[in-house]
Amino acid sequence: MSRPEGVERRAFDGSEASWLATRGEPVYGEPVEDGWRRWNPNRSKLGAMLEHEMDTGLAGGETVLYLGAANGTTVSHVADFAGPTYAVEFAPRPVRDLLDVAESRNRLFPLLKDARKPETYAHVVEADVDAVVQDVATRGQARVAVENAEFLADDGRLLAAFKARSEDVTRDPDDVFADVLADLESAYEVLETQRLEPYHADHLGVVARPK
Ligand code: SAM
Repeated sequence: MSRPEGVERRAFDGSEASWLATRGEPVYGEPVEDGWRRWNPNRSKLGAMLEHEMDTGLAGGETVLYLGAANGTTVSHVADFAGPTYAVEFAPRPVRDLLDVAESRNRLFPLLKDARKPETYAHVVEADVDAVVQDVATRGQARVAVENAEFLADDGRLLAAFKARSEDVTRDPDDVFADVLADLESAYEVLETQRLEPYHADHLGVVARPK
């Protein structure tokens, strides 16, 4: 797996350990050195997917539709290395923070929208995006992915994290993930899956391409 251009591995605070990092204004109190901000995989499913060396297909500069942006922890890193980045979040409070994050990132476009209603932002998001990144952590996560497949270019990628407990707290996560993967089949061919421990408990990272 190659990291996207604009994502490097760097040491911080004189430590021997190295971390993923992107260049941009800090957002969540992360350490910054020489303009590089540490990307904390414990706070980012996509960061965890990159730490696990999943083959995301991200090379840098691509157009991204990000679903479940919250207050911008992960999408800020994405906008540091990607091209136009459309950030969908349906809760008004985090979107206010997201607007601040976008102030120093002219390729980041926050959208106060519901990812279950892609028709409400289809006129804003450009056609044929290279990647849909999804981290909505609510019931019906596979449905959200399927309904947003229409935005992807033929060779685009879904990069999604599915949280088992958001579907059903009582079921075995492996059973929940089997159902999620079966539901994705209507719109995607799944290329890779990876549990995101130790960074995120009971989450499955998925790379898929549209059918
Ligand atoms: N991706 C974020 C990050 O790494 O910085 C964290 C996302 S948090 C786990 C999930 C977010 O998805 C919440 O902010 C929640 O409001 C949002 N969300 C859940 N369902 C949504 C939907 N249908 N449309 C848009 N946002 C949604």
